[in-house]
Amino acid sequence: IPSAASIDDLALPHVARLHAYTPGLQPTEPGWIKLNTNECPYPPSPRVAEAVRRELGEDGASLRLYPSPTSAPLREAIAAHHGHGLRAANVCVGNGSDDVLNLLVRAFCSPEAALSFTVPSYSLYPVLVAIQDGRAEAVEFERTMRLPVEKIAASPARAFILTSPNAPTGVAFGRAEIERVLAAYRGLLVVDEAYAPFAREDAVPLLARYPNLVVTRTLSKAHALAGIRVGYALAHAGTIAILDRVRDSYNVSRLSQAAALAAIGDTAYYDDVIAKIKHTRDLHLARWGGPPETGGLGWFTYPSQANFIFTEPCNARGETGPAVAAAAYEHLRANKILVRYFPGHPLTASFLRISVGTDAEMDAVHQSLQAWLTNA
Ligand code: PMP
Repeated sequence: IPSAASIDDLALPHVARLHAYTPGLQPTEPGWIKLNTNECPYPPSPRVAEAVRRELGEDGASLRLYPSPTSAPLREAIAAHHGHGLRAANVCVGNGSDDVLNLLVRAFCSPEAALSFTVPSYSLYPVLVAIQDGRAEAVEFERTMRLPVEKIAASPARAFILTSPNAPTGVAFGRAEIERVLAAYRGLLVVDEAYAPFAREDAVPLLARYPNLVVTRTLSKAHALAGIRVGYALAHAGTIAILDRVRDSYNVSRLSQAAALAAIGDTAYYDDVIAKIKHTRDLHLARWGGPPETGGLGWFTYPSQANFIFTEPCNARGETGPAVAAAAYEHLRANKILVRYFPGHPLTASFLRISVGTDAEMDAVHQSLQAWLTNA
């Protein structure tokens, strides 16, 4: 039996060097207020469980059979849901939008063909590029989070992933700004819209006019279905055909397709869920970011259009910075409140990202941080 070291030698060098993506913690013991992975605090539409039960039947006999390889009924439903002239040929469904992003990187990135993205943004992108042994080109945001349109337009990369609303700041870019990028950039512009259901605008209406645009979406956030792993890309039919060439044949399970189809069909339920989350978010943006005269903590907080809040803790001595953010994170954790801390980049290291939970959960975070301020 070869030793672990010699297996490392057998692996391709770029894989041996690879640092896997670290997902947020998923604690298994009860009692946590879990606000670290931007899941939905409310259950999915009741139609979802019904549809999964129907698909399973009495004895799960349908599970003997492979699912629709292309998730065909779901592509139809997603196209109809978005409108704007989209058809099934403009949709590719994946095992979460992570899968769809992976297909994009597989098809458009190599050691010779660079893929570009902004920093900070979703830290999975550089990992997907590294898996391909691809060339990554990061475009850095300044603290203002102004969209560097000229830098993106000048990028020699074949594909550029723009996250809007951005993660982890929550800052969204308007349709007009995205159109300025599209008009100037010669590669494929992928707008990762995982959080767009919580934003004022999205890029979907631009798809009809820009064949170099791809929009990716997920059912993990607004649709409360992180556990079923369904995401999708909307794009020109030619781009979808390319993604289908590099996709696993049966990349979305029967139960996931049934659940997603039911969720996509219940717009009224989700409009209500999204409105509640936005209401809680806006209340707490004011509680953290608002001035002390109006009851706010006065912390620098980005104007989030997502289902999370990115805020820079400031201790009782008026200090901010990585040590202060780390202390606030540890205090919350000691009180069984899990949020996200990203120490890896100067722009993010003095902030915490707090997913928007129920009003009661958010009140608990606020109280805990006020206790920290009093005792720190
Ligand atoms: N894009 C962004 C910006 C995200 O934050 C996430 C969730 N971590 C995803 C995509 C992936 O979501 P999923 O694979 O659950 O669809």
